[in-house]
Amino acid sequence: MRARALIFLGAPGAGKGTQAREISTRLGIPHISTGDMLRDAVQKQTALGLAAKALMDAGELVTDDVVCGIAAARIAQADTANGFILDGFPRTLRQAEFVDGLLLENGRSAPLVVNIEVDPEVLFKRLTGRRTCPLGGHIYNVYFNPPKNDEICDLDGGKLFQRADDRAEAIGQRLRAYGQLTKPLVDHYRKRLLLKVVDGNRLPEAITGEICRLLEDA
Ligand code: AMP
Repeated sequence: MRARALIFLGAPGAGKGTQAREISTRLGIPHISTGDMLRDAVQKQTALGLAAKALMDAGELVTDDVVCGIAAARIAQADTANGFILDGFPRTLRQAEFVDGLLLENGRSAPLVVNIEVDPEVLFKRLTGRRTCPLGGHIYNVYFNPPKNDEICDLDGGKLFQRADDRAEAIGQRLRAYGQLTKPLVDHYRKRLLLKVVDGNRLPEAITGEICRLLEDA
């Protein structure tokens, strides 16, 4: 695959982060997750984090201007020269147009967009079951990939926690925001012939394999 921006699209819980991390390691290109950047800002209690926290906890989107600003600053770093993966960004048509403009301005190729499609009932279990280790960031799922000891990380003994926005109340709002604001991006990229679709209902390794094959042919 030529040096190119990859965009991973999909509903919350589709596995964008899991796939982006794996593909980022395999290709040696950075994984850029606006959700991770915002969570980091919340944890460090920066002005950005304090402004974003309530929206995130409620499952609502942070404003386009804020997210485009942090994403653009990250994309401008030198390590993106050979390509990069965007995970959870863009999430609205305005953000998508912003990325299109940014790539054009920087003389980069059009992005390759991978849409990870997952059935609603699988999404719900992935989100409500997700637990994260605060020490190493390792992710479990109480339904599909539970830790050996309840709520304790197998790798480093960290006490697993559930993201505030993975609680049932916030999940409904996240899925609604996805349907109204993010799903239209599928058509935006399909019309531009930049879209590839993968079946995300399978095990992570099978999905990674398919994404790698798509990238080889791209
Ligand atoms: P994620 O980890 O990608 O599911 O993001 C977690 C939360 O961060 C989302 O529910 C939003 O509140 C916020 N967020 C992350 N990326 C964006 C984005 N591109 N646009 C708006 N809000 C975002």
